Amino acid sequence: MYNAKAYSADSAASPLAPTTIARRDVGERDVQIEILYCGVCHSDLHMVRNEWGGGTPYPIVPGHEIVGRVTKIGSAVTKHKVGDVVGVGCMVDSDRTCPDCRAGLEQFCPNKVLTYASPDKQLGGFTYGGYSESVVVDEHFVVRVPSNLTPAAAAPLLCAGITTWSPMRHWGVAKGMKVGVVGLGGLGHMGVKLAHGFGAHVVVFTTSPKKKDDALSLGADEVVVSKNADEMQKQAGSFDFILDTVAADHDINAYLDLLRRDGNLTLVGAPPKPLAVAAFALILGRRSLSGSSIGGIAETQEMLDFCGKHDITADVEIIPIQKINEAYERLLSSNVKYRFSIDMASLESE
Ligand code: NAP
Ligand code: ZN
Repeated sequence: MYNAKAYSADSAASPLAPTTIARRDVGERDVQIEILYCGVCHSDLHMVRNEWGGGTPYPIVPGHEIVGRVTKIGSAVTKHKVGDVVGVGCMVDSDRTCPDCRAGLEQFCPNKVLTYASPDKQLGGFTYGGYSESVVVDEHFVVRVPSNLTPAAAAPLLCAGITTWSPMRHWGVAKGMKVGVVGLGGLGHMGVKLAHGFGAHVVVFTTSPKKKDDALSLGADEVVVSKNADEMQKQAGSFDFILDTVAADHDINAYLDLLRRDGNLTLVGAPPKPLAVAAFALILGRRSLSGSSIGGIAETQEMLDFCGKHDITADVEIIPIQKINEAYERLLSSNVKYRFSIDMASLESE
């Protein structure tokens, strides 16, 4: 066991503040990583403030968009070597034997261990995430980051990237399809870049008219301000696929009505309050509504390799960890372009 600097919150009402946490010693299959950057996901905020009702365990050290450098490996590690730039996303372990793990879909494993706030089998207590200077992770859950990608801007690929990649691959997003992305935040802007990368016709739905130009330069073909009923009406019945990334309560029926026959809307945004679904929005047109959770490890690597090949990363605002509480407030007012990435070197002064 060794000590690492980190930022944690002690309750749903507490700000994040400096702390020291224990990390396990490097086991046979473990990789020790010096964390360079960690993205700030809206899920971090939902969890810190206990908004999902699951009973967040405190103290919590959030962070699941980790990019760092390997500093030590266990004797049985074959995937990574000291000095490699690697990534860790939302999971750090799973049982490897259940049907989901065998299908490469570790995110659905009933025994998966999340990067933070999951029971920690080795140290007891709960796992601590990436708002920290260092982490130790089983090599299976550590992915390679292509060398042409800037670490700070690659970090958000580990959650925002894979969470938008996975459902678009599952639903076959490709050239010739019309794809909607609802909400231009961290997930949304990655959804736009990836859907554009797949060759789809991409339409962004935003509540923020000032994001219009950005949406177009990120790769959208059209932008609709969702508060404008006329603009929405023009898109009725025309989408093959819509990815909803909104973090707060909103009218989902307005988007279901935009799907063509057999179109699908996938929710990745996870608002704390249940959404009301009008039966006829699905019945008429045999439309479907589904959800999607991050992605498996193999597909995370596939996504990173695709991003390496096509030079795709997040648009980030790099912040020192000392600005994290301010960053959370800005997330709540949709005021981030388009992902905060924490420079972990800033922990040195703590
Ligand atoms: P984010 O950066 O805060 O972006 C969310 C966007 O939603 C905002 O930028 C805003 O876009 C839009 N929005 C916010 N409030 C709204 C409202 N009241 N009505 C309509 N639109 C609103 O958050 P994020 O990090 O992308 O995460 C988005 C959601 O996905 C969160 O709930 C998060 O927990 C969830 N998530 C799920 C998974 C998964 O595996 N399924 C993984 C990661 C995150 P505009 O300004 O363009 O309207
Ligand atoms: Zn996330």
